[in-house]
Amino acid sequence: MKKEITKLEKIINALPQLQCKKCTYDDCESYAQAILHSNESINKCEPGASQTNNILKKLIDGDTDTDFEESIIENYKIAHIKYDECIGCTICIKVCPVDAIIGARKKQHYIINDKCNGCELCIEQCPVDCMEMVNNDFELSWIWPSVQSEDSKERYFRKLTRVKQEKYTKSIVNQEKEIKQYLKLAVERETEKRKFLNR
Ligand code: SF4
Ligand code: SF4
Ligand code: SF4
Repeated sequence: MKKEITKLEKIINALPQLQCKKCTYDDCESYAQAILHSNESINKCEPGASQTNNILKKLIDGDTDTDFEESIIENYKIAHIKYDECIGCTICIKVCPVDAIIGARKKQHYIINDKCNGCELCIEQCPVDCMEMVNNDFELSWIWPSVQSEDSKERYFRKLTRVKQEKYTKSIVNQEKEIKQYLKLAVERETEKRKFLNR
């Protein structure tokens, strides 16, 4: 049986899945939630522009067929790192919502061209200004909803889960370190006390 798409999913599908924060929300889904539950304005998605705005308006007005419409940004731009200028600070890797940048500390970084969705989040963050937006290799269009936009969404949520897991693991390791330190100090205190009593 075909699963019925909820209104929230339809609103999410109307958004480009760049996760670029230009709407002032953390990601497309957060903006969709705000439209549905907090009466947020429907014209805040800058990349989706009037196409997104029109679909959202129909959805809010109760038109149920709107989830089949596709939107498009022709020849979308992707990030590029100027060769030899990158100092390998890794800031852009942390900022990229879809893991489209690879590189090691103090080494040249690279964009995975077919994974970059053109969100521009990395550009302003580069401390040596060696990132720029350029035309994508094959002058492709960014289309949503599509396999391309779904992949972008999935990569974003995968990264989110991984970062949460890393933070959790770090906090467990830190807790274990604190406990070990606490036990070490307790043993030292006890040893000193015994030494004092045996004088
Ligand atoms: S594409 Fe960017 S501006 Fe549009 S909804 Fe998603 S995060 Fe917000
Ligand atoms: S490489 Fe830059 S522009 Fe491309 S998806 Fe990542 S943060 Fe966005
Ligand atoms: S932010 Fe700039 S300098 Fe730092 S790793 Fe990325 S491209 Fe290189």
